Amino acid sequence: MTKTDKEEIFNLLKTADAYANGYVRPQFEQMPSFEDDKTAEPQEQVQAQVQTHETALTDVQAQTQTTSDKSEQVSQTPHGITLEELNAKILRCTRCDLARTRNNVVPGQGVQNPEVMVIGEGPGYDEDMQGLPFVGKAGMLLDKMLAAIQLDRNKNCYIANVVKCRPPQNRDPMPEEQSACFSFLEAQIHILKPKMILCMGRISGHKLLNTEQSLRDLRGRIHDYNGIPLMVTYHPSALLRNEELKRPAWEDLKLFKKELDKINQK
Ligand code: URA
Repeated sequence: MTKTDKEEIFNLLKTADAYANGYVRPQFEQMPSFEDDKTAEPQEQVQAQVQTHETALTDVQAQTQTTSDKSEQVSQTPHGITLEELNAKILRCTRCDLARTRNNVVPGQGVQNPEVMVIGEGPGYDEDMQGLPFVGKAGMLLDKMLAAIQLDRNKNCYIANVVKCRPPQNRDPMPEEQSACFSFLEAQIHILKPKMILCMGRISGHKLLNTEQSLRDLRGRIHDYNGIPLMVTYHPSALLRNEELKRPAWEDLKLFKKELDKINQK
């Protein structure tokens, strides 16, 4: 399969996935490099495949357009699906193997019009048992960190994860599990429209920024996620393991708060 074919299929699947989750995918998403591409394929065959994908893509785009038109008509509701409807879909999800071992799905928790969306990597034991994000030891520390900059999941934040089901033994979520779940997170962000995003740890930072840079390189500055200022800082579990990280994490939180205050003053 050629690079162009893969790009067509990638576009088609992402658009269809976004449509299924009730939102219109932004056009500026980065394309994966598809570096394992074969270059030579008979030209006619490639043309025929592209043609098929184009037809299918047009169909999906037409449907997506209808959704977007509808969402504009529905008294300024800025999206075609509510958070409740989206989270109901997430609760039923069986897209990856994590569905087999979970006790509960953990879509997220917080207010519907958050200033800040806080994004972790995935539920752990306590979260899996309760169906709520960040409710174990790390969660208690997260709540304290947020409180230090006047943020609160019951007042002005929404907390979610890259994967919504617990990876066994709290291992890192695998790339295919992250990819299977990612359109849910994209849709949550799209619906909630936070003013800023705070990524807790490497996994969510990597996934949202589409990078593999070290956390040390990513932290300490404001990035951009589709127009939303985003910061990556240490995961509270890392702070529980290593006290020395608390100071740089606090520096990050102060910078984050300063940026948020600036946005709120506009
Ligand atoms: N760690 C995470 O990344 N997310 C949770 O919800 C809990 C712990």
